[in-house]
Formats: sequence, structure tokens, C-alpha cells
Amino acid sequence: MAEDLAARIAAKQDELIALTQDLVRIPTLNPPGAHYRDICEYLRKRLSLEGFSCEMVRATGAPGDSDRYPRWNIVARREGSRPGDCVHFNAHTDVVEVGQGWTRDPFGGALEGDRIYGRGACDMKGGLAASIIAAEAFAEAHPDHAGAIEISGTADEESGGYGGVAYLAEQGYFSPERVQHVIIPEPLGHDRICLGHRGGWWAEIETRGEIAHGSMPFLGDCAIRHMGAVLDAFERDLFPAMAARRTALPVVPDGARHATMNINAIHGGEPEQASDYTGLPACCVPDSCRIMIDRRYLVEEPFEAVQGEVIAILERLKAERPKFDYALRDINRITPSMTERDAPVVTTVSGAIRDILGQDPDYVASPGSYDQKHIDRIGRLKNCIAYGPGELELAHKPDEWISVAAMVSSAQVMGRALEKLLLPEG
Ligand SMILES: [Zn+2]
Repeated sequence: MAEDLAARIAAKQDELIALTQDLVRIPTLNPPGAHYRDICEYLRKRLSLEGFSCEMVRATGAPGDSDRYPRWNIVARREGSRPGDCVHFNAHTDVVEVGQGWTRDPFGGALEGDRIYGRGACDMKGGLAASIIAAEAFAEAHPDHAGAIEISGTADEESGGYGGVAYLAEQGYFSPERVQHVIIPEPLGHDRICLGHRGGWWAEIETRGEIAHGSMPFLGDCAIRHMGAVLDAFERDLFPAMAARRTALPVVPDGARHATMNINAIHGGEPEQASDYTGLPACCVPDSCRIMIDRRYLVEEPFEAVQGEVIAILERLKAERPKFDYALRDINRITPSMTERDAPVVTTVSGAIRDILGQDPDYVASPGSYDQKHIDRIGRLKNCIAYGPGELELAHKPDEWISVAAMVSSAQVMGRALEKLLLPEG
């Protein structure tokens, strides 16, 4: 049976290529969140023909949602002929900006040899196309399957997922009563299972001073020097402490197994002038300096401890350093997520990888987050992985591409997983 379905999927290779090209050619750039309705309409037309009932859901009022750029999502569901579990494939439909350095049309979907090029080909329209072909081939081969198959195309993953999976999860679309297994075909590789991701905390730290004439800085208080003390304390205490922590989650690349922090931006003093401004700077002691931190934390680190060690450093400086004052503003929090290795979706997909590829899967976790966080925290659904074709390193890069062979293999694995989950003899 496994070979029948795998052969049926291999025979759909041209259809898989055409579908991927069609999806790449819809420029669903985020920001601003363009053409979400168009891509949902495209998916609705296609999946309706295959026996899926489709719901279009606008995330009204979500961040970024407006009449000009509405946050449309689609949830398609195909009922089997008997009771059973529901297997849900979730893909985000948005893509990041094009950026510089392309040698192909970013929305052309050119096929060259084994590769389809385009923004979003790898992250993650190729994965979406593979899951659709897998589900359609499975439904054609086994029209009397048990349970249900769902396919969703969701908005805004690249900007936090609040107008996409988070919204759907709040509406109950990912409740454990409705959905039992979730596979997110993000580009982690057709032979790897991604169990989850690290957490994240974005915050702005501001140090405050007092403005004065720059020739007499002793009459003011320099906010940038205070920030220098903050950065120095981070270098001496925080970065070594983070580097000493290592997670049991198999995060790739290896450097991301440690707790990390990026300082995204620093701003202080006089604002930068436009490049055509020919005047000289004014002489002022800066009264404010701000940095943006992006702290990625491990599943083993409680959020309160992550935030607490930054606050402890700032409070220590406040006690030790004359006139030091600060403000700390939360920008965003991401909950870390890790699915257990013996969860049903993990053992099923690893069995499918063994059946199709003849090898054991690698288990990995993602350094950055993806929509699993919302399915876990809001949906309370723990049986979720990322599994899909493509190389993560190509995501967001110029000349992004997806391998047709990897899409076919991963579609075969997804089809095999459906057999194991939705056929009694699977
Ligand atoms: Zn993605």
C-alpha cells in the first residue's frame, strides 16, 4: 500500500511543480500583508474540487488587519467516511520582502533543473504544495478513510502569526477536540523532524540622562555613558551566563543550543539627519539612549528568570552608579515549545520517513520560532511538529529555491503518515 501511494504522488510531480509555481506567483508580501485574499481564493477553488469544505476566516482586528490589507486565512476540511482522528497541515502563506541580490524574478516561479526559484518557494509555498498533493493523492487512493484531513493557509507567520494561527487558535480551530495531529511543512528538510523552537523576549531598555551644552557635559548627565555601563555589564555577566546554558532540545545550528541575545538596535542623542543635510551637529549631552534586545531562551529557562536576570543587572547599576535610571518596555514574548519524542505525530512521521526514505530521521528544533507556539499555548495542542521540504538556510535569502525531488519525497512521507493515522490497517 505504501508503494501505491508513493507512486501515485510521484506521478503528480508536474502538478506539484505547477501548483508551487502558481503559489509563488501570488506576491503575498508581509509587510504589508498583500494578496492574502487572492491566495486563499486560489486554495479554496482548488481544494473545493477535491472534496474539501473551505472556510475563509478574516482575522478582523488583529495587528496589521485593515480594509486595505485584510488578514485572510483559509481552513479546508475533508471528512472521511468513518470516525477517527483529524490530521491538520498548516502552512503560512506570507513571504518576507524580496531584498537585494536576485538574479531571477522573485515572483516568476522559474523551473531550472530540479529547482523552482522565487520568494517563498522554500519558506514555505513548496511545503504547502507538497502537503496539498499528499492529501489529494491520499484521498483519491483511500476515499473511505477514517477521520478528517485539514489544510490551512494562514497569514502573518513572518510577523508573529497574530493575524493567522494565533487568531484561528483563539477561535478554536486548533482545539484538541477538533484536531489531533498537526504537521507544519516549514523547510526543515525532508528527512528531519522538528520538535519545536526556542522562546523569545523582545524588550526596549532606555537609560535616561539630562541635556546640557556639550562643552560642559558635567552640567548634564550622559544617557549614552549609562547605556555603556549596561552593555559592559551584559558583556561581563549576562553573555557568559547565557553561553554556559545548553538545552536538551536538539536545536540546529549548534550555536543555538545555548541561550542567546542579540542587541538589535541602539539609538541615543541627536537623531541622524538626512543624507543630504550639510549642516554640523549641535552640541548636546544626550538625555536618552535606547537599545532593543532580542533574547532567545531555552525551553529549560523560565521566562521570569530570563527577564529577572536583566532586571537584576539594571537594578544593580541603579544602586551602584550615580544618577543611573532606566525604563524597560516589553515588546513581544514567544513561548518556547517542544513536542515529546514519543508523541503520536512524531512516531508516525518518523515511521513514514523510514518507510519512504529507508533511514531514521534526525530530530531537530528551530532557533527561531514558528506558528507551533500558538498551537501549543493558545490551542493547548501538544501533538505538533514541523516537517517539510527545503533547506532552512535558503529562507529569506536572494534566489530562494525549493528542490522538486525534496518536495516529492516529503509529499510521499506525508501521504504515508496519513495512511498510518487514518487507515485502520495503515
Ligand atoms: Zn516559514
